Amino acid sequence: MSIRYAPYLRMEHIPHMWCPGCGIGIIVKAMLRAFEALEWKADDLAVISGIGCTSRAPGYIDANTLHTTHGRALTFASGIKLARPDKHVVVISGDGDATAIGGNHLVHSCRRNIDLTLIIVNNNIYGMTGGQYSPTTPLGSKAATAPWGNADPPFDLAKLCIGAGATYVARGQVGSGVQLERLIRGGLQHKGFAVIEALSNCHTQFGRRNKLSDPIELIEHISKNTVNVREAAKLKPEELAGRMVVGLLHKDDTREEYCEAYDKVIQRAQAAA
Ligand code: SF4
Ligand code: MG
Repeated sequence: MSIRYAPYLRMEHIPHMWCPGCGIGIIVKAMLRAFEALEWKADDLAVISGIGCTSRAPGYIDANTLHTTHGRALTFASGIKLARPDKHVVVISGDGDATAIGGNHLVHSCRRNIDLTLIIVNNNIYGMTGGQYSPTTPLGSKAATAPWGNADPPFDLAKLCIGAGATYVARGQVGSGVQLERLIRGGLQHKGFAVIEALSNCHTQFGRRNKLSDPIELIEHISKNTVNVREAAKLKPEELAGRMVVGLLHKDDTREEYCEAYDKVIQRAQAAA
C-alpha cells in the first residue's frame, strides 16, 4: 500500500520513538496530509520544534527542519520567516514547550501576527521530561510534580491566543484526524499567525497517574469532553462547563502580516538614508 504523504517522511528514521498509541503520530499524519493536499514542496517548507516528545517530529520530516532549544522554536521560526518570507514555516510544539517555557514567545508571536503556523500538541503534561504538570494540566489532576493533585488552574489556550492577537485559532483532537487535518490546512493557508491546538493523549505520563493508562480509553475520554463549535453555540454555559470546544474558533483577515509591516519599516529607513 502506498502512503500518499510518504514523500514528506525520512523513512530511514522510522520506526519513531513515541510510545505505542501516542497521539502525536495522528497529529503529525494530519499535518503531512495537509501539506500533501496543498501540494507544498518539501523544499519550500520549514518545520521547526523546541524540546519534548512532540519536538522530535521534525526529525522524521523530510523538509527543511530544525530541532531547537526548549520553548524557543517560535523565535527560530520568526527569524527564518523574516529572512525567507517566500517559505512556509510551521512550528510543532507541546503544551509545556509552547505555553510555559515558551509562553512569552507565544503571546508575542500572536501579537505580531507573523505568518507562521503553530501546532500545539496539548496532552496536559510534560511527557519527555518526566510527567511534570504544565499550564494546561487540569485542576486536581496528578503529575510527577503534583502527586496530590494540581492546584494551578489551567489556561484555555485558544482563548489565550485569541486574546493575544492570533488571527487564526482552531482546536481539534486526536479522536478526529479528518477534522484535525482540515483545521491544520486552514491554518497553513491563513496569512498571519495561526494556532491549532490539538488535544492529545499522553497515557504514559498523564494517563497512568490519572487512571487513564490505556491509550484508547484516554482518547475516548478526550473526545467525550469535546463539543463542536456549532453545537456549542446552542448550549447554555452550564451545559458547556468542563467541555472543550473544537473547530475553527477565530479568524481575522483584516490585520497586517508582520513581515509586510517590517518591510515597510525597512523601506522608510532606506528612504531616509
Ligand atoms: Fe507520547 Fe507521552 Fe509517550 Fe511522549 S511520553 S511519546 S507524549 S505517550
Ligand atoms: Mg505535553
